[in-house]
Amino acid sequence: MKKKTVRDAQVSGKRVLLRVDFNVPFVPKTTVIADDTRIQAVLPTIRYLKKRGASLVVCSHLGRPNGKVVKDMRLDSVAHRFEALLGEPIVHVRECIGPAVQQAVKELGPGEVLLLENLRFYPEEEKNDPEFAKALASLADIYVNDAFGASHRAHASINAITRFLPAYAGLQMEKELKMLGATLENPARPLGAIMGGAKISDKINVLHNLVQRVDRLFIGGGMAATFFKAQGLQVGSSLVEEESIGVAQDILKKAQSNSVKLFLPEDVVISKTFAGDAPHKDMDVARVPPGWMIMDIGPETARLFAREMRECRTLVWNGPMGVFEWEVFSQGTRAIAETMADMNNAITVVGGGSTAEAVEELGLTNAMNHVSMGGGASLEFLEGRDLPGISTLPDKDGD
Ligand code: ADP
Ligand code: MG
Repeated sequence: MKKKTVRDAQVSGKRVLLRVDFNVPFVPKTTVIADDTRIQAVLPTIRYLKKRGASLVVCSHLGRPNGKVVKDMRLDSVAHRFEALLGEPIVHVRECIGPAVQQAVKELGPGEVLLLENLRFYPEEEKNDPEFAKALASLADIYVNDAFGASHRAHASINAITRFLPAYAGLQMEKELKMLGATLENPARPLGAIMGGAKISDKINVLHNLVQRVDRLFIGGGMAATFFKAQGLQVGSSLVEEESIGVAQDILKKAQSNSVKLFLPEDVVISKTFAGDAPHKDMDVARVPPGWMIMDIGPETARLFAREMRECRTLVWNGPMGVFEWEVFSQGTRAIAETMADMNNAITVVGGGSTAEAVEELGLTNAMNHVSMGGGASLEFLEGRDLPGISTLPDKDGD
């Protein structure tokens, strides 16, 4: 179902409360923004609204101040970067509600931008408090949610707010819903999912949802060890989640009954210790010696996965194939990313914080059809769940 977007709204001369996700990473122990992708991502929505003469009241959370004012979590550096990227001055106030904010909003002309303070300085935000939402709503005529990455949270500026203002999706939100949605609703087939990452327990619901929808399922990363254990293989000292062996067995069974072609690694890169400079080698999965652990998929597996992936028309990927943070164990992840980047005849979608980071490091973000900016939110979306910031946005008329 399609959501109403800013394109469906009459915005000229209106005040728009725009929820964004400016929760950017910082260079550790500084106020220097390490990556401003999240700010750049909402510029199209901002420009769209400005051009049509709306005045913008922009709001975001940053970090986890836990309902208190934390000096280092003020939006000052975000405001500066935002101004620089936008190429014009904005007004930044030190609060989110109250008379001073109301005054600043009153003085805001068409096309002008006001940035509120960190929403999470108010405990009411994370409590989804209706009074706080109402106070925010009083600042504007319409509400636009362009914060996909925060939309799995039932917070006041995401969820309760939609009770008090006509609500619309922003352009970045629209893109996320369209591209992630393309993997779940009427995908071009064959549909393949590549799953990896450290733990199966983080991904149980994604696996359960995808095994019912995909034609091919590729499993790598640390979670592969638990699948091997479920098949009775020895995995040395690899991380096995004993409590998830049943889950792995269940997924294997469901893949079979749903005629999903499931691929597990055939060879793996193993290491003596969990370190980037430990002795390591490629090994058949059936021959992982005691005391060694699985750190990546092997080159044979990368070739097998690539061959089978290339026949897919839609591919969705979550979870690195190995401990990609260390160069020697990053080759499997690289192979998957390069295969996807190379597929011009398929829709390629990447979700998950670490996976997006790996793709970005490889310089392949733009080679994918979509790399989701919502880490946790993209996972919950792939679980097939209703997200509290999305289910409350009205559907387009006639859908
Ligand atoms: P995402 O954030 O994209 O959902 P995850 O957080 O689930 O991904 O997984 C990322 C982490 O998984 C990385 O830090 C990576 O080092 C780890 N990982 C991948 N393969 C293995 C492995 N074989 N053993 C241990 N950790 C692994
Ligand atoms: Mg992660």
